[in-house]
Amino acid sequence: MGEYQAAPDTGSVPFAQRPVVILGAGIIGCAAARQLLQCGFSVEVVAEFLPGDQDIAYASAWAGAAWHAAGGISPEQRYFQAVTHRVLLQMARDPASGVSIVDAREYLEQEPAPDSAIWGKTVVSKFREMTPGEYPSTFHCAWAYETLVTDPTRHMPYLKEQITSLGGRFHRQRVGSLQELYGRFPDSSVFINASGLGSLTLADVHDDRCFPERGQNVFLRTEHCNTLYFRNGSEYTYVIPRPMSHGVVLGGVKQQDNLSPEVDWEIARDEIARAHRLAPHIVPESPAADRISHIIGIRPSRKGGFRLDCEPRGSRTVLSAYGFGGGGYAFSYGIADALVKMVEQTERQTVIL
Ligand SMILES: Cc1cc2nc3c(=O)[nH]c(=O)nc-3n(C[C@H](O)[C@H](O)[C@H](O)COP(=O)(O)OP(=O)(O)OC[C@H]3O[C@@H](n4cnc5c(N)ncnc54)[C@H](O)[C@@H]3O)c2cc1C
Repeated sequence: MGEYQAAPDTGSVPFAQRPVVILGAGIIGCAAARQLLQCGFSVEVVAEFLPGDQDIAYASAWAGAAWHAAGGISPEQRYFQAVTHRVLLQMARDPASGVSIVDAREYLEQEPAPDSAIWGKTVVSKFREMTPGEYPSTFHCAWAYETLVTDPTRHMPYLKEQITSLGGRFHRQRVGSLQELYGRFPDSSVFINASGLGSLTLADVHDDRCFPERGQNVFLRTEHCNTLYFRNGSEYTYVIPRPMSHGVVLGGVKQQDNLSPEVDWEIARDEIARAHRLAPHIVPESPAADRISHIIGIRPSRKGGFRLDCEPRGSRTVLSAYGFGGGGYAFSYGIADALVKMVEQTERQTVIL
């Protein structure tokens, strides 16, 4: 982790006048910016890629993005997902947010383990166990419920608009270190590192647990785009609807340390075949070429899971929130909520002497 850096005394500037500086304008940085602004903090967001950009390294432009309860996570992490669900549900009332409520069908290869995704039934609406005959007999059991999907092509520009109208500011800049940010914002005392994979290379972070994990999905144009299908087991297959973009996202694949921006046709054909087996009434065996396109992005993964913590560096405080791999959208607003609480704690220690 980064070295301790001596910091100037920012005590002469009232806390409320020191902007919180966020490095990174992906879903994590933007969700945090929005939530901080709503609580009255002033916020500056610095990033190489901003909402609306479409670079392979900017994961937030490419996500599915479905809310799906993750299995094998801690109670605290479940709560982050639950908070995200609550915020997204409210956003779904506004079509500009790109968030939609859809039906979900989850087919399980095996009996669910005690730490499985079943906890999600306390969060989603209309959860029920499907009866045999309603799902393919090759599966052990199946769940039906309502869930939320976020269309990133709409959600990220929506967030940018919200942040700007709440008074937040974006600065397009690639930085080599957090230290560089301290120099640019000398009055600020709270810095949030939401740089995703950037944390691998930032000179004073150099987190070597971070690694790139390539995803490649097929986007199929269809009006059958109101039901999500998810295969829960050893095969990683999903059909995620994007009602507002009139299509479905077919996946998935995870390729560690592969950075290729080129379409791998073998993967695309395999995803179509798997999605066809899962939802044959939505995905034809051989979709017309003019109905498909490809989504390629690099997930900011991290061995051991994401990092979320707060550390003092001289008179500054650095909050770290990165390494969300394939779950950044599902955790986003819960993480933003936790970051706001950490900033409030810092404010309390600084203001209430
Ligand atoms: C194909 C695919 C499908 C996915 N599906 C889902 C899904 O269904 N559900 C789900 O929850 N998640 C999904 N994900 C994962 C999700 O996209 C990521 O977890 C999430 O976008 C990570 O957000 P982030 O803000 O941490 O990182 P990013 O979106 O990568 O943003 C990082 C930000 O930091 C900036 N930055 C980094 N380094 C620097 C630097 N040195 N200087 C300046 N700026 C810097 C970047 O410019 C960018 O603004 C999917 C991902 C892919 C690729």
